[in-house]
Amino acid sequence: MSGPLLKVENLTKHYPLGAGFLKKPFSVVRAVEDVSFSVDAGETLCVVGESGCGKSTVARLLMRLTDPTGGRVLLEGTDIAGLGKHELRAWRRRMQMVFQDPYSSLNPRLTAGQIITEPVQNFEHLSRKQRNALAADLLQKVGMAPEMMHRLPSELSGGQRQRLGIARALSLKPSLIIADEAVSALDVSVQAQILNLLLDLQQQMGIAFVFISHDLGVVEHIAHRVAVMYLGRIVELSPCEALFARPVHPYTEALIAAAPVPDPTRVRLEAPVEGEVPSPINPPSGCTFHPRCPLAVDRCSIEVPRLVPMADGRVVACHVRAPVPDSPVSPACHGKTMGTLVVPLCR
Ligand code: ADP
Ligand code: MG
Repeated sequence: MSGPLLKVENLTKHYPLGAGFLKKPFSVVRAVEDVSFSVDAGETLCVVGESGCGKSTVARLLMRLTDPTGGRVLLEGTDIAGLGKHELRAWRRRMQMVFQDPYSSLNPRLTAGQIITEPVQNFEHLSRKQRNALAADLLQKVGMAPEMMHRLPSELSGGQRQRLGIARALSLKPSLIIADEAVSALDVSVQAQILNLLLDLQQQMGIAFVFISHDLGVVEHIAHRVAVMYLGRIVELSPCEALFARPVHPYTEALIAAAPVPDPTRVRLEAPVEGEVPSPINPPSGCTFHPRCPLAVDRCSIEVPRLVPMADGRVVACHVRAPVPDSPVSPACHGKTMGTLVVPLCR
């Protein structure tokens, strides 16, 4: 296969608010604005950002659980918006989703074995023997005993239920799994087990992940690349190591500074960003981060910054830290610092 596995181009989702029959909506929620990225086979792209920044909406758009207001989603070069019902069904085999809350996403009346073999049975008839063999195989893949196939979700622990959700996603041998806060509800020790399971499965089966999380500790552990979202937009997209070692966008810097530090040798920054996330119904003009940004200059409230490629393979949307080459803002940004952190600017 040439080209990326998944390509997202200018994806936008606006939810109309207050719209009645034939009535014009009086406002819209700009949940996702002009989001573009790609994911290679076998890669993990993590999407991070505060609650309400549009992560789950991106996941729903990727799975076509909701239709975009604009933009395209291409899986192996095919635009999923153009697919008919049958094609969409076939295409869904290749892209599966794991949800945050394993309990509410598993049918409580079905046994574990029925739950994980159901997706395959939607496509082909399986004899009882085949079904049991498939269930045993999938349970073993996610580190559970075959006898568990007879249990109901209510008879399983939180970690086991999440393993079941993963087994169900694996049943159709997808090339891409979208995981939306898939470990957020679990205890830390169980989280680690599930994350390691996902990493093993990726290595064995070459599965790509779009892994959505607000937990930067988890993200640093598993991501190849990270997309940072703020109010529906990607503000920085970077190889993982570079992002954590040297965040460029002031928002990324603030997020990393605010995250709990597992490594005691790493210096912890103090309250680097103030204020609440503004409403996506009436987002600030220009760069939507400008009201909270300690580096903001005049231009930031006027012009939406576009993503500018940097030398180390990342893209950043910031007039100050990543000015468009030859833009008039560049000279003004020298010496700008944030809190105690000094980042080399205007490279
Ligand atoms: P996240 O997953 O990052 O917390 P979401 O994608 O769930 O964010 O939501 C992004 C924004 O879109 C939020 O402001 C949310 O309230 C809004 N939103 C999400 N779904 C709907 C919907 N069906 N109708 C109206 N607004 C919505
Ligand atoms: Mg969400």
